[in-house]
Amino acid sequence: MSQPIKIGIVGVGKIVRDQHLPALAKDQDYRLIAAASRHGRVDDIANFPDIEAMLDAVPELEAVSLCMPPQFRYDAARTALMAKKHVFLEKPPGATVSEVEDLKTLAAQNGVSLFASWHSRYAPAVEAARAFLDTAKIRSAAINWKEDVRRWHPNQEWIWAPGGFGVFDPGINALSIATHILPAMFITSAVLDFPENRASPVAARVAFRTSNGLPVTMDLDWLQTGPQSWDILADTDKGAMVLSGGGSKLAIDGKVVHDEPEAEYPMLYRRFAEILHAGTSDVDLAPLQHVADAFMLGKRNVVEAFFD
Ligand code: NAP
Repeated sequence: MSQPIKIGIVGVGKIVRDQHLPALAKDQDYRLIAAASRHGRVDDIANFPDIEAMLDAVPELEAVSLCMPPQFRYDAARTALMAKKHVFLEKPPGATVSEVEDLKTLAAQNGVSLFASWHSRYAPAVEAARAFLDTAKIRSAAINWKEDVRRWHPNQEWIWAPGGFGVFDPGINALSIATHILPAMFITSAVLDFPENRASPVAARVAFRTSNGLPVTMDLDWLQTGPQSWDILADTDKGAMVLSGGGSKLAIDGKVVHDEPEAEYPMLYRRFAEILHAGTSDVDLAPLQHVADAFMLGKRNVVEAFFD
């Protein structure tokens, strides 16, 4: 059996505490030995104010997970790749498509693995939905991703800033599933609602079509209180598919055919170990490209101010 991968974590905030630390603690293939964060810290390991100090002090690190917001990830990723460390990028992998392309090149040049993680792709019913759609004739599909930003992202200023993506921060999770289970598609029109006091949208309505002409719609809303919707629907010749709960539950014609507890982050770390041992990278930019296209093609609609 190979030695555990010595890993460090950067940007200790909500997702690190909620998911990365529990997943790493249970995974025998990793040993978390250092963290770098300006304010956050991880108990019982060496902590540093930034990635440069961490890499200097802990040269035995083999890999790093970069969990800060996307606008601040490129420089850290570049530093790590140039130091020949394998890099796990939280989603979205960057603030622009071109910076992530550059990271792909840097990873290849330095002989290390780059992983653009898409946690929602590892939701329990996603593969079952993909298998179902592979055998069915799709007529149309709809993505409905509606949640309450005040509940899930309280006081996260970066998410409203340029490069924070606004409602496309959760929306890109939907796109990471849709691009995995639906045929290739592209955006034909989009309307993005920007609160008058914010740089990023609070809602969006996007129309896609697949290369063979099927319509796919996406409705994103960040002001949904009460029940939250993270659903992808498809009308097919084998019945109406509903993939709900962010990819956790699959029903065909109202009958639940797949419903399991989620294990997204443990699976992400399994995948990272797999590519690292195989000497490859896994960087699918399709979800990020769709978000970029929505901002490029979308009509800007100004709506009432948003306050936390
Ligand atoms: P967060 O808690 O607001 O930020 C994570 C950490 O990044 C912060 O605690 C902060 O640590 C560091 N950071 C913030 N601004 C920075 C800056 N300007 N420069 C360098 N570091 C900075 O955010 P999060 O919710 O964990 O999200 C982080 C990433 O994970 C995002 O890309 C998000 O889409 C993704 N994600 C989040 C969730 C979720 O449920 N929240 C789920 C899945 C994925 P220090 O101040 O200590 O440096």
